[in-house]
Amino acid sequence: MSAWQRQLAESLTEPAALTERFGIDMTDMEKVVQRYPMRITPYYLDLIEAPGDGIWRQCVPDARELLPSEEVADPLDEERLSPVPLVVHRYPDRVLLLASGQCAVYCRFCTRKRKVGCAAMGVTQQRLEAAINYIARTTQIRDVILSGGDPLLLEDEHLESLLGRLRAINHVEIIRLGSRVPVTLPQRITEQLCAMLRRYHPLYLNTHFNHPRELTPEAFEACRRLADAGLPLGNQTVLLRGVNDTPAVMQSLITGLLKMRVRPYYLHHMDLAAGTGHFRTRIETGLDIVAALRGPVSGLAVPHYVIDAPGGKGKIPLLPEYLLRLGESALLRTPAGETIVFPNCEM
Ligand code: SF4
Repeated sequence: MSAWQRQLAESLTEPAALTERFGIDMTDMEKVVQRYPMRITPYYLDLIEAPGDGIWRQCVPDARELLPSEEVADPLDEERLSPVPLVVHRYPDRVLLLASGQCAVYCRFCTRKRKVGCAAMGVTQQRLEAAINYIARTTQIRDVILSGGDPLLLEDEHLESLLGRLRAINHVEIIRLGSRVPVTLPQRITEQLCAMLRRYHPLYLNTHFNHPRELTPEAFEACRRLADAGLPLGNQTVLLRGVNDTPAVMQSLITGLLKMRVRPYYLHHMDLAAGTGHFRTRIETGLDIVAALRGPVSGLAVPHYVIDAPGGKGKIPLLPEYLLRLGESALLRTPAGETIVFPNCEM
């Protein structure tokens, strides 16, 4: 068994294991994990310094995930925008291909938590075939983003077969991998994987570091291997209450990422996904953080602060021209010129 497979095999999937490790009664979390699964690799678990810290909050189940709320299971309307299972086709020239149902760590803030790690994800070979056929016959698609779940949890052979099939489609110009493996399971980024990936350029990888303590020597090495294999690396951070919602933490994160050859790309305001409301900050918090970064930090490191508009209406940059009003609700203009209301509150 390789090091990364051993990490997966030894992952914690039951709250009782956390009770043993931290001496905190996690019995109430059993109900949470019946609804939203838990998995934490030993590597990521070791990054926790104390219960409740920025790493803990991202991976340990919380009773607030089950609180009733006005949020919805599918805030970005992905099911409606899915012409065939496993494909989300929101923008004309780009698709998401949900190639894997599994992740190394199930993030408590995940926007797709309604089905990631659950049977509802429904990734089968037959559905993947149908998804590839859809991409092959839809000639305006030039950009395929492999997502999931985490596509880097596929075995090399399976992933290579998928990349080969996509590369054989003439109109597919670029392929992007969306993966949190460099953060939660950096052992997965082997030299062998990178040697395979470099055969399928142009290939990009967007990862998802949220906290400076995730920038470990192991993560550094994983990113070095990917960058040396020629993959441009970007990072999408989610603004998370109690994790990274201060200028100091965000500055440390984004400047550290640049040292790892990872370009901070987006800072996402939390979607309205059911079970994640306790992570949401006010919009002003994100605006203040970005304002504090401009100047002290190189422009190369400052991410674009965006909201993904509910209902699959696309990303709205949080800039003055798109922010019409802030208050208990924010009034925003989408790039298409539509006006939408977004609740501007913390739980
Ligand atoms: S790695 Fe991505 S898809 Fe998987 S649980 Fe975390 S945020 Fe969701």
